[in-house]
Amino acid sequence: MKILIDNGHGADTKGKRSPDGRLLEYKYTREIAGRVEKELRAKGYDVQLIVPETHDVSLTERARRVNEICGKIGTANVILISIHVNAAGNGPWMTARGWSAFTSKGQTKADILANHLYAAAEKVLAGHKIRKDMSDGDPDWEEGFYILRKTKCPAVLTENLFQDNKDDVDFLLSDKGKEAIVKLHVDGIVSYLKSIGA
Ligand SMILES: [Zn+2]
Repeated sequence: MKILIDNGHGADTKGKRSPDGRLLEYKYTREIAGRVEKELRAKGYDVQLIVPETHDVSLTERARRVNEICGKIGTANVILISIHVNAAGNGPWMTARGWSAFTSKGQTKADILANHLYAAAEKVLAGHKIRKDMSDGDPDWEEGFYILRKTKCPAVLTENLFQDNKDDVDFLLSDKGKEAIVKLHVDGIVSYLKSIGA
């Protein structure tokens, strides 16, 4: 199984930062993605970053890269995790906070992967808000996000707390916070892969 990691946006993307500029989403998600890659590799997994560049790469190109790998080694042998930080607004500090994960609409293997990520998040982020949509019987949110809709393999997008919530940003930037965000991805992915015998 090949684990593809996508990190949101790029150095040239407007906005996508905390109101005080301490957290830049492109930079933060690249740091987390790199650490997740390193930890999974150390456990023997095959991992690839879809966007190693620091500038923004279009969603079309991101999906193309993923689908090219799916075409080469088989869709059943690939999963994709896209790492982001949420925002409630577009400027000042806001009150919304918490962790969530998204899949495309309908029940697919991605929903199972999301369940494993949620279970890991509940443990690793104990005491933090975990945002769930139980209306279809599982915790993930379903949205027509391009990177989820246009990629052929199971794909989950994680929104790792809020870049415009001051308490979330303080936690995200702390050593403990970074460790927690890395660990929930590693644990969730490993747990999913073990459940399918991969
Ligand atoms: Zn984002």
